[in-house]
Amino acid sequence: MAGVIRRLDETVVNRIAAGEVIQRPANAIKEMIENCLDAKSTSIQVVVKEGGLKLIQVQDNGCGIRKEDLDIVCERFTTSKLQKFEDLTSISTYGFRGEALASISHVAHVTVTTKTADAKCAYRATYSDGKIKAPPKPCAGNQGTQIIVEDLFYNVNTRRKALKNPSEEYAKILEVVGRYAIHNSGISFSVKKQGDTVSDVRTLSNASTVDNIRSIFGNAVSRELIEVGCEDSSLAFKMKGYITNANYSVKKCIFLLFINHRLVESAALRKAIETVYAAYLPKGTHPFLYLSLEISPQNVDVNVHPTKHEVHFLHEDTILECVQQHVESKLLGSNSSRMYFTQTLLPGADCSSSEGVKSAANSSAVSKGASDKVYAHQMVRTDSREQKLDAFLQPANNPRSTAPMEVTIEVNAGSPEAVVRPQDAEMESVSDLVEMGAVQDTAMPGALSKSRRSSLVPPRKRPREDVDIEMEQEDSRKDMTAACTPRRRIINLTSVLTLQEEISNQAHERLQEMLHDHSFVGCVSPQWALAQYQTKLYLLNTTKLSQELFYQILIYDFANFGVLRLSEPAPLYELSMLALEDPVSGWTEEDGPKEGLAEYIVEFLKKKTEMLKDYFSLEIDEEGNLTGLPLLIENYVPPLEGLPMFILRLATEVNWDEEKECFESLSKELAMFYSIRKQYIIDEANPTSSQNEEADCGSTTWKWTVEHVLYKAFRTYLLPPKHFAEDGNILQLANLPDLYKVFERC
Ligand code: ADP
Ligand code: MG
Repeated sequence: MAGVIRRLDETVVNRIAAGEVIQRPANAIKEMIENCLDAKSTSIQVVVKEGGLKLIQVQDNGCGIRKEDLDIVCERFTTSKLQKFEDLTSISTYGFRGEALASISHVAHVTVTTKTADAKCAYRATYSDGKIKAPPKPCAGNQGTQIIVEDLFYNVNTRRKALKNPSEEYAKILEVVGRYAIHNSGISFSVKKQGDTVSDVRTLSNASTVDNIRSIFGNAVSRELIEVGCEDSSLAFKMKGYITNANYSVKKCIFLLFINHRLVESAALRKAIETVYAAYLPKGTHPFLYLSLEISPQNVDVNVHPTKHEVHFLHEDTILECVQQHVESKLLGSNSSRMYFTQTLLPGADCSSSEGVKSAANSSAVSKGASDKVYAHQMVRTDSREQKLDAFLQPANNPRSTAPMEVTIEVNAGSPEAVVRPQDAEMESVSDLVEMGAVQDTAMPGALSKSRRSSLVPPRKRPREDVDIEMEQEDSRKDMTAACTPRRRIINLTSVLTLQEEISNQAHERLQEMLHDHSFVGCVSPQWALAQYQTKLYLLNTTKLSQELFYQILIYDFANFGVLRLSEPAPLYELSMLALEDPVSGWTEEDGPKEGLAEYIVEFLKKKTEMLKDYFSLEIDEEGNLTGLPLLIENYVPPLEGLPMFILRLATEVNWDEEKECFESLSKELAMFYSIRKQYIIDEANPTSSQNEEADCGSTTWKWTVEHVLYKAFRTYLLPPKHFAEDGNILQLANLPDLYKVFERC
């Protein structure tokens, strides 16, 4: 039997429709906050009672509502934000339906108190079922709007009964306001229960997004954040936000998603990103994500559901994929501390063992203000012999602190020269010219004077300006640890003194401190090494550091070097030809025949022999053969495969006209030649040799050299220039206290 169809009473229709929009107090608050933001407020304060069921009060300092509009503000479809249907495609405000206040007023008692900038006073009006109950009354009030919503769902029995848990509702309110607060840094938000003095959400107008994440989700989240951001003009979308790295995980995914500044949910996007994290996080745990997507309004259909919670847009799949890829790349790039974590978990790295572990209490950086108890994460390994990377890589046969075996250096007492013997007269393998060698510590002349570092100021000028180079007095000889020449010459050349000053002016004090006190951890490659300082782990570019070291030695010990003598002279002509044949030289036919150029280089350098020998210990004989190279630090022979290119550059890249520029560019070229590089290793390891054993020896040698020659010299002699802190040549990878929380989670 068919029922009789009757027209529903209008107030009942409105009440049902209102229930669709406002399902719980948090929905009402979200709508009201969006209105505050539309009104350009910078401060939004929410007070609630009984989870918002008894009272919601939202106060802002926005533009206010004109007195004339107060009559209809709670009627359906009244809005100041949209006039034509076409406007929907360019909507930039939150509201546009004029539905929120109307809906609320159908299920609650609404009081609006508001003042615009040019009104003389504020006005107050109360509403029921969408209609104003009496003409607005003038009253006192600041600019902005306060909306009070009382007895929510007083006339909807079923809804009221469904929401009987105020604390659950309050939690939902905190969640919504907190998320809007994070998305709207620059605007202060607060939420509290009526009668409470302390707010449960509180952000300040000068706080950053990360500050807000910290204040709402805590430190554990905020210290693991990675900033993300990408855009694609063809898809007309932009994305930015913060996501946690692989160190952080929670039982339930926290996903703050804003699309065109509306808090929404997207199951598809959540799934796409969680798939990425699955590879990084422990099983069953999830990340924290805050993403803000801006999609061209034309491509977004916001008119889907009254709650506007569901947002659909064009190119959804492509945009999701784009975001997914970006998140993946950011996660990959942020994993440095995790890598370190894995290494410390390797067997034998028990950080609680007392051996080799020392409290950092005497290191000011860690202990300031700390209590007497020293926690494990504040402890620092200070004995560099303990647990180097080698221990993990080559558990057996660890070549710790032993000098390499193939030592073939002759030391000529009195005249300090290291003799380097060629194995092969064929110039094709120039690197074989020399047998790598280490020298006994005692007899070997090093090129550095100890006094150099003790005073960063260049030596004082002597009164006799006309004499640039003098011999030092006998009695100061005891200071010369390096003892590279029987008498150290004092250099008073203004050019050299200026170059010295430039180096010391550029020095980065804290980096120098770090280099001075570091514990060597291990070589990653010939170019990269790890070192620890206090609780921090650093990755250092050995190539660049050694280059800088050699340059500084050349400038500071100018004209005071020992000689690395080649026992078989190396013809400059053949070296030049070798260099010109290397495509790196950039030789083209336009430059003329190589032979001619090579002859010219020999003749040109022969004219400079006196100066090269006197100041740089670069020795060239009358026949045009290179016979000696400067000995810059003990136990170090430059990678000789770089010799041909060095000779070519010596003739072509050095500025021979100006004194200062000449010394500077010549020292730069020498430093580049001397710096430790990749090829060095390949040649040393002798890949042509079929015997593995030999190759092993080779690789042991370079590692030994890096640790015991180069890093030892960095410790004492290198004044790291400031740019090393910024250009990635010295990178801090991890800080132990930060890593520690990783252990706490295990
Ligand atoms: P909508 O936001 O979709 O326009 P609402 O029902 O949320 O509809 O609000 C109706 C109108 O009331 C808005 O268009 C705006 O003019 C005014 N309004 C509401 N809240 C505020 C506020 N906090 N400050 C200034 N104007 C407001
Ligand atoms: Mg609105």
